[in-house]
Amino acid sequence: MFKALLVDKAEDGTVSQTIEEIGEDRLPEGDVTVAVAYSTLNYKDGLCVNATGGLVRNFPHVPGIDFAGTVEDSSDPRYKPGDKVVLTGWRVGEAHWGGYAQKARVKADWLVPLPPGLSMKQAMAVGTAGFTSMLAVMALEDHGLRPENGPVLVTGAAGGVGSVATAILANRGYEVAGVTGRADQADYLKDLGASTIIPRAELAEPSGKPLERETWAGCVDAVGGAMLSKVLTQMKYGSSVAAVGLAGGAAMTGATVVPFLLRGVNLLGIDSVMQPFENRQRAWQRIVEDLPMAKLEAMVRPATLSELPKLGRDILKGQVKGRVVVDVN
Ligand code: NDP
Repeated sequence: MFKALLVDKAEDGTVSQTIEEIGEDRLPEGDVTVAVAYSTLNYKDGLCVNATGGLVRNFPHVPGIDFAGTVEDSSDPRYKPGDKVVLTGWRVGEAHWGGYAQKARVKADWLVPLPPGLSMKQAMAVGTAGFTSMLAVMALEDHGLRPENGPVLVTGAAGGVGSVATAILANRGYEVAGVTGRADQADYLKDLGASTIIPRAELAEPSGKPLERETWAGCVDAVGGAMLSKVLTQMKYGSSVAAVGLAGGAAMTGATVVPFLLRGVNLLGIDSVMQPFENRQRAWQRIVEDLPMAKLEAMVRPATLSELPKLGRDILKGQVKGRVVVDVN
């Protein structure tokens, strides 16, 4: 028997979240069974815990889009009992039972060996949000971003993606400007390495002008929506925006194609869910090299399974700071 957070949806639409002791026979099919040590809370987890956004179709469901743990049993030659592993993506926690439980059973293809130099707890402090921030920084650098090009903007800076992106970029020598709607988080963001704090209201809507002053050499965007439309008008010639999230909405209201045509701006889509194995390994290795662990510690708020229903509501309201690490045991 093991402990799991089960989300259920009744016929009348009522959603419940309960912690239950369940048997291993209820685990889904897969070739590796993992004793989960830690999971995390990402924006998508907020949707799955609340059974909103249409991500979860089958109930009861165990959410948790990422986890780190130790292999208990494996029918795949790549993994053996005792191996430490990390999982993000592949619709685990959405279409497949996830990490908000003491055990998970998944496909070996979805796992990545825990990178040397990172503990299971640190891996989940990074989690899907931080892993995706690393993918975004890698994509920007693959498209020519260098510290000497100028300041880099991070939107949704006090959130999970934004916090990790800020710390990685600052550590790599970039001048970072963080956009936040929470003025009280300015010191937190400066400690992570942001040199400028921009109030959310300043970038909330495009001005109506197709181009504004060239300001940003790059951008990690966790907000999307109208803010992304505005940011595009301020990008420097030939620079790139890594589009990661939609915390501020999906529709790019007020956007025009002019920044692409007249300034050669690139909009780089970042998907963490279906990333091929080699790039996952590359990103985890870069996290070990580029993310200072003291800064990571400063972002972490520890939590237990029983706190997740409340935290799941909070993250959808943009009220969670940094990264939540869930000790499932
Ligand atoms: P968080 O809630 O931790 O961070 C989002 C941040 O965005 C908030 O903290 C807040 O920052 C800001 N924000 C929230 N609402 C608004 C709003 N209405 N307008 C402007 N800013 C807002 O979530 P995560 O960091 O976990 O995820 C961020 C986004 O990235 C989500 O949309 C998520 O789905 C997406 N994502 C995408 C992935 C991919 O593979 N592409 C992987 C992981 C995440 P502040 O308070 O500083 O303003």
